[in-house]
Amino acid sequence: MSPISDKFLPRDDVVRICRDLQARGRRIGFTSGAFDLIHAGHADFLERARALCDVLVVGVNTDDSVRQYKGSGRPVVPEDRRAHLVAALESVDYVFLFEERRNARNLELLKPQLYIKAGDYTESGLTSSEVVERHGGEAVILPIEIATSTTDLIRRACGSLSPDAAEKTGPSEDGQSAGEFCFDVRPAKTAPAVFLDRDGTINVETEYLHEPERLELLPGAGEGMRRFMDMGYRIVVVTNQAGIALGYFAKEDFYKTNRAMFRALKPFGVVIDRIYFCPHGLNDGCSCRKPGTALVERAREELNLDLAHSVFIGDRTSDLETGRRTGMTTILVRTGAAGSDGEYGVEPDYVASDLSDAARWVLERERTGAPFPEPVRGKRALTQRLVAKSIRKGKR
Ligand SMILES: [Zn+2]
Repeated sequence: MSPISDKFLPRDDVVRICRDLQARGRRIGFTSGAFDLIHAGHADFLERARALCDVLVVGVNTDDSVRQYKGSGRPVVPEDRRAHLVAALESVDYVFLFEERRNARNLELLKPQLYIKAGDYTESGLTSSEVVERHGGEAVILPIEIATSTTDLIRRACGSLSPDAAEKTGPSEDGQSAGEFCFDVRPAKTAPAVFLDRDGTINVETEYLHEPERLELLPGAGEGMRRFMDMGYRIVVVTNQAGIALGYFAKEDFYKTNRAMFRALKPFGVVIDRIYFCPHGLNDGCSCRKPGTALVERAREELNLDLAHSVFIGDRTSDLETGRRTGMTTILVRTGAAGSDGEYGVEPDYVASDLSDAARWVLERERTGAPFPEPVRGKRALTQRLVAKSIRKGKR
C-alpha cells in the first residue's frame, strides 16, 4: 500500500496518472462524496466499488461545496482531513479535492470506465451519466449495504436533536436552499440570525450578476458579517434571483457566484450558514420571492432560529418588508439600491452606511440593553414600533 501522500494529490495530477494507467489497460473507477465522519458504510461501499475496477479514484468535496448543500455546521471535519482519511483506506487508490457541486467536470477530465454512485444517491438528472457515457464509460449504482448516515451519527452523538430533524431530501415546492438534495441537521439550540440580501448588500450589485469573476465584496461587508458571527448570530442569505426564471443564467452560475463569495469572505473568517434563493420570475406568484416570507419561514424551521431577535438587512424595501412581515428588526444599508426602489413603505429600524455599521449598531443596542422591537403584527404594531424607534432616536 502506498503512503497517503502518494494517494492524496491535486486533481490535475490524478488525471495525468489515470491517463497513463488507462493507456496501459487499467480500468479506472470513479466515485465522490463529502465523506464527513467516515463510517463503516463508507468503507464497505468503497471496498465494493474497488472490486469493480483496477484503480479507484475518489473525489472529495471541498468545505465550501459541502456547506453549499449540507448547510449549517457541515462539514464537521475539514477537507484536508476528510481527504486524508479516505486516502488511508486500502480500497482507495487516489483522492483529490474538488469544489464543483456536480461531477460533470470530474468526469470530463478523468474519463473513467466506471462512474460508481451510492445507492441512496439522489442527484437529480442524468447529466453526469451522460458525460461518462459520451467518453465510453458507464455509470453504475451500488446499493448501500451498511446503512449508516453521517446525519444519523451526528444526531445520536448530540442526542438532544428533535425527532423532526428528519432527513430531508428534494427541493421544496417554493424556493430552494442551496441544499436541494442532501440531509439537513437542525441545530438543537435556538439562535438569532442576521438575514442578508446578497446583491447590493454583501457584494456590489451589477445587473443579473452571475459571473463569479465579477463578484466584488462591498466595503465593510466581511467585517460586518464577522462581527455578527462573533455576537452569536447565524448568517443566512436570502436572495431573489429572477435572472434564473428569465433564462439569463443557470442555477449553476448562481452557485458558482456564491462560491466566489465564500472565497472572498474567507479572509474574514466568515461562514454563511445557508443561502436561500427564489429562482422565480416577478409574476410567477410564488411565495418565496421577497417580500414573500416562505424562505425566512423555512430558514427558521431548518436552522432553529429565533426571529424575534433576528435582523433583516438589505438595500431594497422588499428586504425591509420581508423583515417586517416576519417580526424582525430591519436595517437598510445605503449600498446598492439604498432603498431608492420605494416599492414598499417600510421604515427601517436603522439606516446603516454598510454592513459593518449595521453590526456596530446592533452590538451597541445589545450593550445598552435597548429592547428589541415587539414582533410586528399588522399596521398598528408597525406604528407602535415606529413610535418606539423615534423615542430611541431622541435618546441619542
Ligand atoms: Zn420564488
